[in-house]
Amino acid sequence: MTDTNAASPNDNDPAATPDCYVQTLAVQPPLQVPPGFASFSQPTQRGSTVVFRNLAELRAHGDGATTYWRYGIHATPTSEALCQHLAMLEGASHALLLPSGLGAISLVYFALLKAGDDVLVPYNVYGPNREHGEWLARDFGITVRPYDPMIGAGIAELIQPNTRLIWMEAPGSVTMEVPDSEAIVAAARARGVLTAIDNTWSAGIYFRPFDKGIDISVQALTKYQSGGSDVLMGAVLCRDEKLYQRIKGVRMLMGWGVSADDCYLVLRSLPSMPVRLAAHDRAAREVAEWLAQRPEVARVLHPALPDCPGHAFWRRDFSGASGLFAVVLRARYPRAQVDAFVEALRLFSIGWSWGGAHSLAVPYHVQTMRPAGSWPPAGWQDAGELVRLYIGLEDTRDLIADLKAAMEAKLVG
Ligand SMILES: *Cc1c(COP(=O)(O)O)cnc(C)c1O
Repeated sequence: MTDTNAASPNDNDPAATPDCYVQTLAVQPPLQVPPGFASFSQPTQRGSTVVFRNLAELRAHGDGATTYWRYGIHATPTSEALCQHLAMLEGASHALLLPSGLGAISLVYFALLKAGDDVLVPYNVYGPNREHGEWLARDFGITVRPYDPMIGAGIAELIQPNTRLIWMEAPGSVTMEVPDSEAIVAAARARGVLTAIDNTWSAGIYFRPFDKGIDISVQALTKYQSGGSDVLMGAVLCRDEKLYQRIKGVRMLMGWGVSADDCYLVLRSLPSMPVRLAAHDRAAREVAEWLAQRPEVARVLHPALPDCPGHAFWRRDFSGASGLFAVVLRARYPRAQVDAFVEALRLFSIGWSWGGAHSLAVPYHVQTMRPAGSWPPAGWQDAGELVRLYIGLEDTRDLIADLKAAMEAKLVG
């Protein structure tokens, strides 16, 4: 074997000595990357062991290291390609991958907080984020204080000397309020407090957190980046090198990594993501506007419609909307009737984790999800149960007909 393209990195290349026994040849075939082969797909490079050319390379750590690659869980060429693509799309300099969106949220907590610290979390944060915070408060000596997502500059009054982190979500889960992130960031920066945003709804495309001075963005790649309802993955993104190194170090200690095959699936979906998002946006606005005219509906909570709290901030800060919104039905429909309406839908499936091609519907009883008395907001007339809708890629004429039929069958009286 004299082929200099052999991919085995050992100086003492075993493939160069084919006079081995068959068992050795079975383990160490001559690996070759065909010269001149190019395609649009990223190679799926799996690997737990990373092979070093010599011991000096194995022993070199940190700044002295001559190879970037150390161990499969930290990074592979495939995961790195995904990190770079995600960072580029959202305007970050770095991304870290986690086995789920919730894993990404957890990493932010554990990387930035220690016992005695304080964190502010909006009422409408993604439910498992809230539960994660409650766990940290119960068992880890961290204070986690909920705040009204529409608080804006008023957040300054909540910041304490030990406040280290302010979470935002834009818009928030289920109730869809769009926060005044500029005012929250300004108050946080004035006090040296870090800000993190769960930016899953905009897929990192319609809202640019780093241009707004937000320190950290979290993505549930499970949603639009996957687009197929078949991958679980999350990302933490940031623009600051020091912050990146700090979070990366904790990710290493936690032993969190992702499969190269899953990375490949997400890499395969990213090129179509902006076009898919635009289609979800168009369809969701059409359905939302139709719903806003219905007599059964008290209020449509879609950031691009004026009835949604924070609509003005959506106009100021976003370049588009995604496929997820909520509708508040009139107070005359009790929970059981709203449940019957959702179960009567034929094209909307019942389930979590939007971002794929299929439309979804889930009813929520918001009163039990946030501090007493904070829902419905003061002044809302006739507000009853909430149904969250995700508009997939079906034809909107069919989706609207489905909603109409289920309303006429179940939301009577
Ligand atoms: C789905 C979701 C997550 C969690 O993502 P998983 O990959 O399911 O853990 C986090 N934040 C938001 C806003 C989400 O919608």
